[in-house]
Amino acid sequence: MPLELDLGPAAEKFRGELRDWLEANTPAELIGMSADMAQRADLPAVKAWADTLSAAGYMCVSWPKEYGGAGLTGVEVAVMNEEFARARVPRVTRGMGEWLVGPSIIVWGTEEQKKTFLPRIIDGTDRYCQGFSEPDAGSDLASLKTRGVIDGEEVVITGQKVWTSGATAANMMFCLCRTDDSAAKHAGISYVLLPMFTGDGAPNGIELRPIKQPHGVSHFTETFLTESRAPVTNIIGGMNNGWRVTMTTLGNERGGHATTQHVEYTKQFWEAVELLRDKGRTGDPIIRQELAWAYSHVEIMRFQGLKVLSEVVARKEPGPAASINKMFWSEYAQKFTERMMNARGAEAMLIEDGTKGRYVADRWTSMFFQHRSSTIWGGTAQVQRNIVGERVLGLPKEPDPSKK
Ligand SMILES: Cc1cc2nc3c(=O)[nH]c(=O)nc-3n(C[C@H](O)[C@H](O)[C@H](O)COP(=O)(O)OP(=O)(O)OC[C@H]3O[C@@H](n4cnc5c(N)ncnc54)[C@H](O)[C@@H]3O)c2cc1C
Repeated sequence: MPLELDLGPAAEKFRGELRDWLEANTPAELIGMSADMAQRADLPAVKAWADTLSAAGYMCVSWPKEYGGAGLTGVEVAVMNEEFARARVPRVTRGMGEWLVGPSIIVWGTEEQKKTFLPRIIDGTDRYCQGFSEPDAGSDLASLKTRGVIDGEEVVITGQKVWTSGATAANMMFCLCRTDDSAAKHAGISYVLLPMFTGDGAPNGIELRPIKQPHGVSHFTETFLTESRAPVTNIIGGMNNGWRVTMTTLGNERGGHATTQHVEYTKQFWEAVELLRDKGRTGDPIIRQELAWAYSHVEIMRFQGLKVLSEVVARKEPGPAASINKMFWSEYAQKFTERMMNARGAEAMLIEDGTKGRYVADRWTSMFFQHRSSTIWGGTAQVQRNIVGERVLGLPKEPDPSKK
């Protein structure tokens, strides 16, 4: 049995209310749906569930009440994740809008921007994708070249982004562009909420070219911006102050799922045990060793998640320690799915899907492919180690190669 924490009477009262609500409202067709499927906002059942959650006040729950959220504490969010897992129903969210953009607007936006943009995330009107990375600006994001030129009341953006996840399902991009060429690298950047379409539904100077991944899907795109326009009132945190806003966004990207991930990984762990037991492999001492390793890692993730979240709640912004979280879960997921490939042996190979020469990956093999990227997106594992070394442990800064 996992060690349980006593979360206190307020959290347990919330748990009871939520459990009753879930028992009364969970649609049967969603029970057992995988986290991947639950991301598919185009599925009618997922969309209907998102609308039900939104109407009941269970969307963007950690945002303050005054901005349409539920003002839940970190502990209550943790309880919520546990209860959704217990009911075996996905906790559908508003994706990057809820997780990355909203919290950055709450910290850096004007009152007017909060009133304009936050309700549109909560009710699902605006679906965001992240326009940060460029062909020559990934880990060194501040060297980005996409330009933003002020033209009257608008900022006009031209350049190229890459690895834009979920772009084909989005109607808004939170986009970084250089608005002052003469300033130091980190100083001349602005953070713009860029509409992807014009009022008449035509692309707003944006061309998306999907990138094919090894397991057959195209989760992200190359994104070309040619004179894409946004009102200057869509610049968050002020002109040329985008780097500060970016730090808030990236802090949430690295630490923001701290309470969620152990729930999914615990579920995945027990599914792995069941699968290997069915195949009669749980008597193998090497497999037993691997499973014990995985179980202890998932438990550490649970405690680490609660620790990061309490820091987030107290300081309102995730600090550099969020990088420990990103490093831990991404490296675990990569090793675990790799070990499952080994444990499954020949069964883990790609199978022909009925058409000669066309191969598909099953769920476990897909997860293995998918997690190759987990130590890259949101900042690579090496970059997280630099952040932990310099900003958490106070070690000397790495040498700047341009100053050799
Ligand atoms: C699945 C996936 C989804 C993504 N989604 C998005 C998205 O929606 N929007 C978006 O803007 N971007 C997205 N990205 C891009 C992601 O943020 C970048 O891939 C990442 O920041 C690394 O940049 P890069 O690919 O240019 O690699 P590089 O920066 O070129 O790094 C190459 C290698 O050098 C290492 N390295 C670089 N600098 C250092 C250093 N200072 N110290 C030590 N090692 C270093 C890196 O760790 C890496 O191993 C996504 C990426 C993936 C894989």
